[in-house]
Amino acid sequence: MMQIRRFTTCQDFLNELTHSSDFYEQTQYELAIARRYQNEAVFHLDGYCKVCEKPTLFQVDHISSSGANEEGIIIPNWRERLVCECELNNRQRAILHQVKCAVQHISPAMANKPFIYAMEQVTPLYQMLARLFPNAQCIGSEFIDEKYPSGTVVNGIRHENAEALSFANDQLNIVISNDVLEHVNDPQQALAEIFRVLAPGGELFLTIPFHITTEETVRRAEYKAGQLTHYLPAQYHGNPMSSEGSLVFHDFGWDFLKQMQAIGFESAALCLYWSRFYGYLGAPLSYFYARKPYG
Ligand SMILES: [Zn+2]
Repeated sequence: MMQIRRFTTCQDFLNELTHSSDFYEQTQYELAIARRYQNEAVFHLDGYCKVCEKPTLFQVDHISSSGANEEGIIIPNWRERLVCECELNNRQRAILHQVKCAVQHISPAMANKPFIYAMEQVTPLYQMLARLFPNAQCIGSEFIDEKYPSGTVVNGIRHENAEALSFANDQLNIVISNDVLEHVNDPQQALAEIFRVLAPGGELFLTIPFHITTEETVRRAEYKAGQLTHYLPAQYHGNPMSSEGSLVFHDFGWDFLKQMQAIGFESAALCLYWSRFYGYLGAPLSYFYARKPYG
């Protein structure tokens, strides 16, 4: 019902793309749906929400779509849509699906009240964490303003700078980072911080807008000695904390995975997932997984 394929290099991915019919079949299936509903502003697909643990209707519309393909069919932004009544979209549901599996495998001997940290707090995903994991200690944060030290709570919201987290070494069992690191000036430092605060055996589930056929990350902007320099036209993503949105510093390629490995993560991989049943359309859809080794 759900297929997850793990890749560690761009070449492995391209080989799979060439030699497996799965990817072609998945995109053909998606295209057929887009074609069938092309005159509908909003439509629903039935499936099963792994967060709600029940059959549901996923809402699809044209919000954040990048427009029509060469045949003139508008392709929905599958990754950001397929929204369940729990308000979570495709990628958010998929990450919590994986986190659910991971939490089941945390041995009570290691952590009877595991720490789960999400780099977001004012979002439906964070709201869902405490409901899904009543036996865990769920922590969320936002980047509020650099004038605050990490860990400061401002009007009920915890501020954390991903490059300098306030957590103790080896404190957290699971870290969830959804589309955050592209907005960080030094993502390698952020990865090093995540590694530091994870307990041995602790797991990272991370999404970024990923350029899957590109080897090298492209820096779009840089913050250095108090100066912001743009190397490419400024691009912003929606940010629930700011009407201006968040500046994109990086377009990530496969060297991101090498950075994870260099920091010491094990089993670091790009995981491609797809499922009609769970409403995970939009091949190639991906998240990164990595684990801090024991001892
Ligand atoms: Zn749901």
